[in-house]
Amino acid sequence: MRGQVDAFTYDALPARIVMGAGKRKDVAAEVERLGCKCPLIVTTHEQAALGDDIARQFDVGSTTLFAAAAMHTPWDVTQRALEAAQSARADCVIAIGGGSSIGLSKAIALRTKLPQIVLPTTYAGSEVTPIIGETRDGQKHTQRTLEVLPEVVIYDIEFTLTLPVSLSVASGLNAIAHGVEALYAADANPVTSMMAEDGIAALAESLPNIVQSPDSIEARRLAQYGAWLCGTCLGTVGMGLHHKICHVLGGTFNLAHAQTHAVMIPHVVAYNAHAASDAMLRIARALNARHAWTGLHELAVKLDAPRSLETLGMPESGIERAVELTMQNFYSNPRAPDADALLHMLRQAWRGVPPEPME
Ligand code: NAD
Repeated sequence: MRGQVDAFTYDALPARIVMGAGKRKDVAAEVERLGCKCPLIVTTHEQAALGDDIARQFDVGSTTLFAAAAMHTPWDVTQRALEAAQSARADCVIAIGGGSSIGLSKAIALRTKLPQIVLPTTYAGSEVTPIIGETRDGQKHTQRTLEVLPEVVIYDIEFTLTLPVSLSVASGLNAIAHGVEALYAADANPVTSMMAEDGIAALAESLPNIVQSPDSIEARRLAQYGAWLCGTCLGTVGMGLHHKICHVLGGTFNLAHAQTHAVMIPHVVAYNAHAASDAMLRIARALNARHAWTGLHELAVKLDAPRSLETLGMPESGIERAVELTMQNFYSNPRAPDADALLHMLRQAWRGVPPEPME
């Protein structure tokens, strides 16, 4: 079942993807390929040692490490990183880490036009999107511009071996959510739909194996492949209700990014169930399940993923506010906004009960 091939527009994004265990050894060659010599290396504080390790591929004194990337790309950190780039006369940025390190690298690229070489260590997918979210004066502002799309992505599977199982699960479900929403996007096209379905299937197959054997290179390889496919979908087509609601929940109640995605995706799929039947069939097929929403819920149970907003720290009193904010500037979504249904959905997700398809 391929789905209907209807009229479509497909904007492919430029990408150089290098994938494989041990591929971090190619970083210096990729920097040279871009005609650069003095990289600024960015990581989080916890991942600074990975930055030091990459720096050894370069002449002593030619690299600068900035190890202070933080969640949601705070502006004060970006300012300090920009100063570091300027005083080091950096000619490119190397980011190692998840969405936080990559967000900082994008923020630097936006202001300096420096090329980026990115080595992802989670499944969030930011490395293949032209999207940047930044926080300034307590407000998160997101924009889409090709100026932040990294020039080179090196997926070294070995970097993901240290990703704790709980974060691997949440991050993997975060990636699945990109694929799910791509399948019912208003601007879906046959290429991203193919990538989305294969990406969801790769993650649904590999995540249970990662839970069993976190050191399995095979499982990690398949998960990162799935994350790349789903991230590419996120970068290419528009996202719907799920991404809007996660944005609201993360921004208003400071909930953890990947875990919020993990809790919400089965519920949003149930909300959209009757408005996107072709996408639902493809999601179910990728999950090898009878229905898309039960398949996602069963996968979350199997992975022991977070399933309630309460456990993530959201106050029950915030549910109505979350619905109000979700209704504002509603993203394109197969099912129209319905405040009562959204309220019901969020109450279910808050309690952590299985999702129900809604008329
Ligand atoms: P993250 O980058 O914030 O990482 C979470 C924590 O895990 C950090 O402490 C990090 O150092 C650590 N970590 C990461 N990889 C590790 C590994 N392999 N081993 C051990 N520790 C590791 O997490 P994330 O979920 O990848 O990123 C979330 C951020 O990315 C949010 O700010 C989100 O908005 C953004 N994001 C942006 C896009 C986009 O397209 N712009 C896409 C997805 C996420």
